[in-house]
Amino acid sequence: SAEEVTLSYIEKIGNSRTYGFSAINERAAEHAKEIDSGKTDLPLAGVPIAIKDNISTLGIPTTCSSKILEGYIPPYNAHVIERLVDAGAVILGKTKMDEFAMGSSTETCCGGPALNPWDTERVPGGSSGGSAAAVASGETPVALGSDTGGSVRSPASFCGIVALKPTYGTVSRYGLIAYANSLEQIGPMGTCVKDVATVMDVIAGHDPRDSTSIKRDIEYSKTIENDVNGMKIGIPEEYLSDGINPQVNKCVWDAIHKMEDLGATWKSVSLPHTKYALSSYYIIAMSEASSNLARFDGTRYGLRAEGENWHVMASRTRAEGFGDEVKRRILLGTYALSAGYHDKYYLKALKVRTLVKEDFDRALSEVDVLMGPTMPDIAFKLGEKIQDPLSLYLTDVNTVPVNLAGVPSISVPCGFANKMPVGLQIIGRHFDEASILRTAYTFE
Ligand code: GLN
Repeated sequence: SAEEVTLSYIEKIGNSRTYGFSAINERAAEHAKEIDSGKTDLPLAGVPIAIKDNISTLGIPTTCSSKILEGYIPPYNAHVIERLVDAGAVILGKTKMDEFAMGSSTETCCGGPALNPWDTERVPGGSSGGSAAAVASGETPVALGSDTGGSVRSPASFCGIVALKPTYGTVSRYGLIAYANSLEQIGPMGTCVKDVATVMDVIAGHDPRDSTSIKRDIEYSKTIENDVNGMKIGIPEEYLSDGINPQVNKCVWDAIHKMEDLGATWKSVSLPHTKYALSSYYIIAMSEASSNLARFDGTRYGLRAEGENWHVMASRTRAEGFGDEVKRRILLGTYALSAGYHDKYYLKALKVRTLVKEDFDRALSEVDVLMGPTMPDIAFKLGEKIQDPLSLYLTDVNTVPVNLAGVPSISVPCGFANKMPVGLQIIGRHFDEASILRTAYTFE
C-alpha cells in the first residue's frame, strides 16, 4: 500500500548516510493512507517525492537552508506542490540545499552539508544536493530541485542520477522562493528519464500566478521512446576544452559514439560567447538576488533579532541570519545595480546574455540537440573549494549558459571516472524537451 511504501522510505531516511533531508513531512503516512482509501487511480497515486527546501510547502518548514528562515512554515503550497498533491504524490519531506540556492556543493546549508552517496567524503553537487543525494541513496524515487545556473544538473552529474532543467516558462515559479527569477526553473530529478518525464507531465503548464509560465502542449512521458535515428547532434567545442577532466571527456565521447551507432550524426559547433557566460551569469544572478533577498528583514518571516528600532532589528537579523556566501552576493549585486555602476556591470551583463542566447539559436538552427559534459570534473572533496568562491563558480562553466539562454537541458549518467559518476548534458531548442528526453533515454 502507499502507506507501507511511505513508511519504508521514512525509515530509510532515518538511517541516512548522506543526510539529504532537512525536514520530514509528519503527515506523509496519513496522506498516503488517504490515497490508499479511494484515490488509487490518480496518475502519481502514492508516489513518494522529496522537495528542495526553497519550494513552499503548506505546513512543512521551508527554510532555503538558511538560518534567516528558521521556523518559517509557509501558509500555502507552491504551484508544483498543488499539482503533485492533486496527482496523488506523497511529499516525504524537504531536502538540503546551498543557502538560498547559491552554490554548487550544498556545503553552505545551515544544517550541515548533504554527502555524496558514492563517496561520503565528497560533495553531492549543488545547490539541489540534498534532493540528488536522497534520490541516489534510494531514500526517495523522485525529487524536485531548482536550477538557476545548474543546480539540478550539477548534483545529478555528481550523484549519477537524471535531472531536467526545463525551458524557462515551462513550470510555474509560484511558491519558489526566488533567487534569480529571470534564470530559474523548478526541475524534476530521478533515477531514470521516464520518472523525470512523468513528473514533468504533472508539474508543467500555465499558472496565472506566474505570468512567465506558458500553456503546455506535450505529454513528456510519451516522447521518450521515439528513436534517435537521423538525429543531428552538435558538440560545442567550448564545452570540451582543456579544463575538462580527460576521463570525463572520454565518457562524453563514448556517449557521442553510441549515438552514432544508433543512426545519429554529429558535428562540431561553436558557442563563441561561452567564455563570457559565467561573468554575465554571476552579475545578473547576484543583482536579482540582492533585490529578492531584501524581503528578509525580520518583519515578516523566520528569524527576528532584538533591536531598539526597526533599522537595528533588521540589520541585526540580516547580519545573524544570512551566511557568508549570501552576504557576499547581496553586496556584489547591490554594487552592480547601484547608480553609476549599473550601466557598466548590470546592463553590460544583459547585453552579453543576448549574445549567449544568440549563440544557442544559431547552433540549434543547424542541429537538433547539443551534447557535452554537465560538469568539467567529478564530485570534489568536501571543503576542497568552499574557501575559494571563484573556484566554485568556475565549476558552473557548462551549465550557466543554458539558463542565460532559457533553453532546456538534461543531465544523464554516461559513465564513471575514478569510480565516480559522470553526467552527460543534452541541450535542446526552446520548448523542445521531447528531443533531449529521447536522446537521454538512449543512455538507459
Ligand atoms: N552554482 C550556481 C550559483 O551559485 C547555480 C546555483 C543554482 O542553479 N541555483 O549561482
